[in-house]
Amino acid sequence: MIDKTRLIDTFCDLVRIDSESGNEDAMAKEMTMRLEKLGFEVQADAYGNLIAGEAGGEPFMLSGHLDTVVPGNGINPIIDGDRIRSDGTTIGGGDNKAGLAIILETLTSIKEDASHRIPVEVVISREEEPGLIGAHALDFSMIRSKQAVVFDREGPVNRITLSSPTYIAFDFDITGRAAHAGIEPENGISAIQIASDLITLLPQGRLDDETTFSVGTVQGGSTRNTVPESAKVTGEFRTMNMETLDNLLLDIENALIDVRVKYPEADIKDDVSPKFKTFRINEQDPCTIMIVEALEAIGLTPDFQLSGGGSDANVFWEHGISAVVCGMADYNMHTLREYVVIPELVQAVEFCSELLRA
Ligand SMILES: [Zn+2]
Repeated sequence: MIDKTRLIDTFCDLVRIDSESGNEDAMAKEMTMRLEKLGFEVQADAYGNLIAGEAGGEPFMLSGHLDTVVPGNGINPIIDGDRIRSDGTTIGGGDNKAGLAIILETLTSIKEDASHRIPVEVVISREEEPGLIGAHALDFSMIRSKQAVVFDREGPVNRITLSSPTYIAFDFDITGRAAHAGIEPENGISAIQIASDLITLLPQGRLDDETTFSVGTVQGGSTRNTVPESAKVTGEFRTMNMETLDNLLLDIENALIDVRVKYPEADIKDDVSPKFKTFRINEQDPCTIMIVEALEAIGLTPDFQLSGGGSDANVFWEHGISAVVCGMADYNMHTLREYVVIPELVQAVEFCSELLRA
């Protein structure tokens, strides 16, 4: 039987383990130990992603990630009525410890009941938060699943990501020429002026229902009285539309051409690279059908929503795995106000149990 107290304890135990991105060893050890106790054979790939398998036919993948964003060290979980939150000095840790607790309680309660279930493969990545780094490095030759549920979105378990965008990151490194700002400014080339020209040529904000564009950081200059020699601009855009994607790439290219023509002596290096690719789930896909049926079996209606963010599912789709991203009862992700809703956490375990009994 699903044990609410055990689920809460597991969640709080996991949240107390520091695992900011890049520092996942203690969490990897804990998850390995817990999954081995459940009878899984747990392996780490060369990058340190965990893959827990068991004998049987083609498994169904349950997935989450080991890391948290900052400030995620020293989380002190506080049970506050129906919610679990931090003491306000750190994130709550629900992203992604809620996902991992859901997976563990599901497998533990099914094992305890000796109920029949389909074979499972648990895949837990490292460094999801900085841009799906672990998933990109995942050794897919070790993965047997073709279908997956990824517990990694805000809200109740029936909130499902219908579509997630392609994400493009861009970096511009601008080198002009330093000169004394008061004595000989005409001999300088201001990297900040170039950065500013470049930025004004680019779009900003929400461009349409499926597209956002943002310059995130601008750094440059050295001292007040020097024509700045260097500047650096970073930004990103996200879209679910392939034509928009091509148009925005062209916009960036044209902006770069313009400023290079205007400042022929400056050196402008650019790096425009996709971090993850879009996917859209198909309601006729067997994996989606299975998930919808499991939700309906516990009295929930699927709530398909677009997502502006990515998750490991974006990478799984690139590798031919139908991956559905479900809510994990977590709210205000990546903030000090993050909290998990206990009844929704229990509901997510009910859903996952139902799914595996299919
Ligand atoms: Zn996450």
